[in-house]
Amino acid sequence: MKQTPGEQQLEIRFRPGQITKSGFMGDDTRHIHDIIEADGKVLERFGLKKADIADRLTLFMDEGKKELEGKVDLGEYVVQVHWARGLMPCPFGEPGLHPKVVVHVFSKASRQEIRYSQLSVHMIRKHGFWGGKGSVFRLEPIDVIRLLKMGGNGE
Ligand SMILES: [Zn+2]
Repeated sequence: MKQTPGEQQLEIRFRPGQITKSGFMGDDTRHIHDIIEADGKVLERFGLKKADIADRLTLFMDEGKKELEGKVDLGEYVVQVHWARGLMPCPFGEPGLHPKVVVHVFSKASRQEIRYSQLSVHMIRKHGFWGGKGSVFRLEPIDVIRLLKMGGNGE
């Protein structure tokens, strides 16, 4: 299928060296829309909405921001937030800039950690995009759902 110029522009912004050094696609060769659809199906299986995930990730980010670079112990989880200078646009191209904030959420129970950026939270919420497989900030929906103990038993 032939792509529209708009779609080509969209794809370019996800490539390495455009908005970020390593880009958003990793070694994923699927079309952006197919990645979104596949990840959306995982959420559906658990009866979750994009906003459910984004809200929870935001909650941890906000807690982490209360300590400057320090660890915040929330009981079951430990959160740490790292700030970098500057702002970045969303690769989907709408106006607005996002702070370069990276959040680590560590689960004491499972000894697992997820890591995500403030931009990732935005992309999950607004675009349903979790990153291409192999990309630096790719989040696996299933890992997030398990670590944050969300949804029912969708499996
Ligand atoms: Zn966006």
